Amino acid sequence: MAKFICRDYGFECDFVAEDDDIAKVIVEYSKHSIDEHGIEYSKEALMQFILRKG
Ligand SMILES: [Zn+2]
Repeated sequence: MAKFICRDYGFECDFVAEDDDIAKVIVEYSKHSIDEHGIEYSKEALMQFILRKG
C-alpha cells in the first residue's frame, strides 16, 4: 500500500492519497497539490517522497 499524507510535507491539510498502485497515488496527489496548493511536483519528485517514507 502506497500512501501520501499531505500533512507530512508541511501543509495544514488533511488530504491523504492511498492506493495499492503507487502510480495512482502519485497522480492523485499531484492533482491535489496543483488544485489545493498551487504547487506542481514532478512525478519523479513524488516518487522519491513516497519511496523515502518506505
Ligand atoms: Zn494538501
